[in-house]
Amino acid sequence: MGEFKLIDGRAISESVHLETRQRVAVLKQKNITPGLAFIRVGEDPASRVYVGMKEKKCREIGITSQTHILEKETSGGSLLDLIARLNKDPKIHGILVQAPLPRQLNEAEVFASVLPGKDVDGFHPVNVGKLMLGDPSGFAPCTPAGVQQLLIRSGCPIKGSDVVILGRGNIVGKPLASILMQKSEFADATVTVCHSGTTDLAGHCRRADILIAAIGVPLFVKPDMVKPGAVVIDVGVNRIPDTAARNGSRLVGDVDFEAVKAVSSMMTPNPGGVGPMTIAMLMQNTVRAAEETLLN
Ligand code: NAP
Repeated sequence: MGEFKLIDGRAISESVHLETRQRVAVLKQKNITPGLAFIRVGEDPASRVYVGMKEKKCREIGITSQTHILEKETSGGSLLDLIARLNKDPKIHGILVQAPLPRQLNEAEVFASVLPGKDVDGFHPVNVGKLMLGDPSGFAPCTPAGVQQLLIRSGCPIKGSDVVILGRGNIVGKPLASILMQKSEFADATVTVCHSGTTDLAGHCRRADILIAAIGVPLFVKPDMVKPGAVVIDVGVNRIPDTAARNGSRLVGDVDFEAVKAVSSMMTPNPGGVGPMTIAMLMQNTVRAAEETLLN
């Protein structure tokens, strides 16, 4: 077996940001500054961190961002009113409603209220449908699009490969299956999606040339589930107790990195793999949304 290669999501995301910055510069020459609005409901600590990281990246790239923080008890009506206002605002090209939302809010209804052309998170049913149809005029959700870019930019052949995705969530597993099965240059894989109802999940995993874990179970993927030489992508973000850590916990992925490293040929670290790419795709979608206003 050849040497192990780390798929460095931070470095790859920086090369995407470089391209995005150049596109922002071109837009600025045309007096357009891409604008992204974040909506955060309540004070979920992870959501605060995620929105904070995205705001910071906007500043670095030259995207204007604004963040609307609503109270945890906010009614559906006031959230929908805010979205309606942002839909009409010509300075706002992208709208991101940070999930998870408090229980009283209907997530599907909220996502569907964002104008599809401003839905840079790719969760509007129109964009979900376009992804399934292979219509590139829609916005693909950022995490699965980021996984595809990681594979492409690290030179991993996708066409003809056997891909196994662990997890059929609407944010990662399902859209990623859709992306990688398309009849197109950087896809064309044979995709198997495993979930809690799968019989012989480990057996499916062992057939994968590319194994992608997105189930949210800490360190679930062990070396005996991985074909020697396989490419492994770890999407999971899980907080586990750690008495040695300052705050008593630490983040780990769905893959037992240290153990699986001995078997796989290429693997994402976690953190430092898929996470930075998710943000890179969000920035890219926002700039594309701004560019498309020139076409109207
Ligand atoms: P989700 O909607 O909860 O979906 C999880 C999926 O995993 C479900 O299909 C579930 O099966 C399956 N599953 C759970 N436990 C399993 C087990 N023991 N065996 C087999 N299948 C199992 O989650 P998600 O939103 O797709 O997110 C998945 C993971 O990715 C989470 O850790 C999340 O934090 C992470 N994530 C990371 C990023 C990033 O930027 N890095 C972005 C988004 C999400 P059933 O359908 O049968 O219940």
